[in-house]
Amino acid sequence: MFKQAIKWVKANQDLLIDISDQIWGFAELGLKEFKSSKLLANTLDEAGFAVKMGVADMPTAFFADYGEGKPVIGILGEYDALPGLSQKAQSSREALIEGAPGHGCGHNLLGVGSLGAVLAVKEAIDLGSVKGTIRYYGCPAEETFNAKGYMIREGLFDDVDISMTWHPGFLNMLTLMSALSMNSVVFKFHGRTAHAAGDPQNGRSALDAVELMNIGANFMREHMISDARLHYIITNGGEAPNVVPAEAEVHYFVRAPKRHQVEALYKRLIKIAEGATMMTETSMEIDFLSGTYNTWYNQVVDEVISKSMKTVGTPRFNKDDKAFANELKKSLPENSMEGYYRLIPPDMLEIAKAILSQPLNKSIIPPIGKGKVMPGSTDVADVSWKVPLGEFTTACEIMGSPGHSWQIVATSGMSIGHKGMLTAAKILALSSLEFMGNPELVKKAREEHENSHKDDPYKTPFPEGLKPPFRRLNN
Ligand SMILES: [Zn+2]
Repeated sequence: MFKQAIKWVKANQDLLIDISDQIWGFAELGLKEFKSSKLLANTLDEAGFAVKMGVADMPTAFFADYGEGKPVIGILGEYDALPGLSQKAQSSREALIEGAPGHGCGHNLLGVGSLGAVLAVKEAIDLGSVKGTIRYYGCPAEETFNAKGYMIREGLFDDVDISMTWHPGFLNMLTLMSALSMNSVVFKFHGRTAHAAGDPQNGRSALDAVELMNIGANFMREHMISDARLHYIITNGGEAPNVVPAEAEVHYFVRAPKRHQVEALYKRLIKIAEGATMMTETSMEIDFLSGTYNTWYNQVVDEVISKSMKTVGTPRFNKDDKAFANELKKSLPENSMEGYYRLIPPDMLEIAKAILSQPLNKSIIPPIGKGKVMPGSTDVADVSWKVPLGEFTTACEIMGSPGHSWQIVATSGMSIGHKGMLTAAKILALSSLEFMGNPELVKKAREEHENSHKDDPYKTPFPEGLKPPFRRLNN
């Protein structure tokens, strides 16, 4: 059945590449992925999956089931793009549409790699090779906020036994590094306007409150754990210098390796904001946009994925791919791999450098970074706290591609990205079949999950009644 699944992906690769290229061309931002989600959902519907569109208060979120009964294997798909990154599928910088979004995180590949996997598993179910349910999760807006957290809160992950996902990367590697837990929150201050020269004594500046809050927050940095991160932008600082701003707001990210650390820091930040209101005689309200957990990978799922990676092998890049990669690499800074080198044990550094200095990764890299935290956040983390989850990357980009870059848009729309995506589809399909054919393995993964989380179960990071932040989309 494993061979059959690999054969299915090969036989249908043109279809998968076509869907991926269409989504690459749509390049829709989070919560606006109408064409992308529809294309994926329609493909699943036509294949006989039961599709539920518009779940958890988000029109572009969906899930699709095939098969019946246990185990339920959930594969995550994403398809949102990033603003301002429009780029042609070529090795020099040129926008496809000036100023338009682009797939700078390769989520067109992510969504379709996962699609290929569930379709290949569907065939195995049809052939009677395995029993159970394969589910595709259409997860919108990964770049913007925790959409998966809303899907969890809606109960959509309650019956899932095993969950798996992947991400386009420049290495073929199991993902072991955790991600930072975070809160994304806007503090809105309300004051009283006045003519800034004529009657300043009557003004109470909301912008002063923002500035004083930021000063307080910057002093708090001295007294945070060193792995925590605090960043902000002023999203409204008033309209004109001669008008005392009655309204001002600042958007904060609070990040730390663990959820409880974020919550503790966030409480202190609220006190600082309240202090700023007292100093300026203004008032404040909080617009909580998103909160996420840190990732927690399940070892049993990791082992299954590792085995599948070895069976499937790595993407086979040809001469044209290599020429493209060599040309594109000229646009990267010399030290683009430094961060990775720091993760490698000293005795392996020489060998690692020989592999990692190539423009494209052709081997499976032994996982690095266990116990370390990637300096970013993802809503995959919430799923990993809810159910056993494993994740990996395949080489879809050139070595050292910066995250969220035009270089990634370029490779996500041509054969380098396509090959990585098809490899990922095979790995996810094989791993799903392994679990569906082996109930003991499912049980083991679930036991590990329950033991790890029995004292610290998943609780939604959202305040009660919180809705997806459509309110801030059209600003
Ligand atoms: Zn991404």
